[in-house]
Amino acid sequence: MTETCWFCKGNYEKGEGKSNKDLDIHLVHILDRTTTQSGAYINTKTKYQQTTITVPRCPDCAKKATAWGLKGAWICAGIGIVLGIIIALLEGGHGGPGPSALLPAFAIGGFLVGFLFGSSIRNGFEQAGAKRFPAIQTLIESGWDVSKNP
Ligand SMILES: [Zn+2]
Repeated sequence: MTETCWFCKGNYEKGEGKSNKDLDIHLVHILDRTTTQSGAYINTKTKYQQTTITVPRCPDCAKKATAWGLKGAWICAGIGIVLGIIIALLEGGHGGPGPSALLPAFAIGGFLVGFLFGSSIRNGFEQAGAKRFPAIQTLIESGWDVSKNP
């Protein structure tokens, strides 16, 4: 079945199972929240509705989060290596751990931080795009929120 990707407007063949890269957006709508107190205990009861809207997304767009993550990872790994070298040089004459111990730690640390940073920026853009999907926009306008939990 051919679908049109909401994000890039390109046509793609809808995959089955793991090759289905459509984006599921979970929304909740709080109807009522009541708090009751008995002694030291505070109970919050939340009445809510929830639903999931599927936004058509092609495999190429689905890959972008990883691609952005990797880009951020390599940039931050580079920064980590430079920092590692500077610290190693500063520590050099003072009996510090030395470059061999510091460099891999800084490079790996930078890579991990960069990956999280890059992919979360991309995910933010994707969320913002998904919120403009007509079915989701209509729900948001009538008081729903994009959220996993009420
Ligand atoms: Zn796409």
